[in-house]
Amino acid sequence: MEWSPSSAVDEPPREGSPSRTLESSAMKITVNTDVCIGAAMCTGLSPQVFTLDEEGIVSLRETNPPEELRARIEQAVGFCPVAAIKIQD
Ligand code: SF4
Repeated sequence: MEWSPSSAVDEPPREGSPSRTLESSAMKITVNTDVCIGAAMCTGLSPQVFTLDEEGIVSLRETNPPEELRARIEQAVGFCPVAAIKIQD
């Protein structure tokens, strides 16, 4: 099949294509680094969103993570021993 500009425009993005983006969300994550004790429950549950800095305190990789990660983030909120994580919708 020959390439034509119209076929290129109408073609939907292929599964796994680099141009495909995850659904963004209105969810916003905040962490209170003043109370974080570095228990790392959050990093284990959702490493795409949470990491620990060089001092062992939580740091965010994503402040507006995709909706697909909500369930894991809600688990992190529930398991955080000092209630340092908040979700704002
Ligand atoms: S689970 Fe809570 S206390 Fe532990 S690293 Fe994450 S934010 Fe900090």
